[in-house]
Amino acid sequence: MSGKRLKKRPVVIIDCPEEIPCNPCETVCSQGAIIIGQPITNLPVTDEAKCTGCGRCIPVCPGLAISLLHYDYSPSEASLTVPYEFLPLPKKGQEVFVVDEKGRYLGKGNIIRVIPPEKNNRTSLVTFSFSKKLYKKVKYFVLKRENLIDETRKYEPGKK
Ligand code: SF4
Ligand code: SF4
Repeated sequence: MSGKRLKKRPVVIIDCPEEIPCNPCETVCSQGAIIIGQPITNLPVTDEAKCTGCGRCIPVCPGLAISLLHYDYSPSEASLTVPYEFLPLPKKGQEVFVVDEKGRYLGKGNIIRVIPPEKNNRTSLVTFSFSKKLYKKVKYFVLKRENLIDETRKYEPGKK
């Protein structure tokens, strides 16, 4: 994705690696920014130039595979909006750990927005902010009270 597009407005991120018969993300996007086509088992391809960042595709995905990246949330922070299926919901202002696709600790973040399920097609959406430097790696967050992440176990590129 070009840096120019990234800075323009929030953009969809899809992590859907399985060739399953599924396409609600494609049908809900009125901008034609998600393409699956035929056969329906094709992996979704995104057209970032067409994506308006509306977020309508997030709650329709049964695989919780869609998020929305806002690179310019603030001068120093990016934000990510993700579907969230746990209770209780986090609270705005709460500090969290941000993690990569394998749950590895990357740094700290803050919850900046929570949309409860009754206001969003039965899917909670949580938006959290974090250092802009981490925008390519951050995939999710972990509540600090869950104590699942060893804060000292920093992510080191190349190490598993
Ligand atoms: S965020 Fe909106 S415009 Fe972008 S892909 Fe999803 S539904 Fe389409
Ligand atoms: S709706 Fe979700 S699981 Fe289905 S194809 Fe789209 S991204 Fe993949």
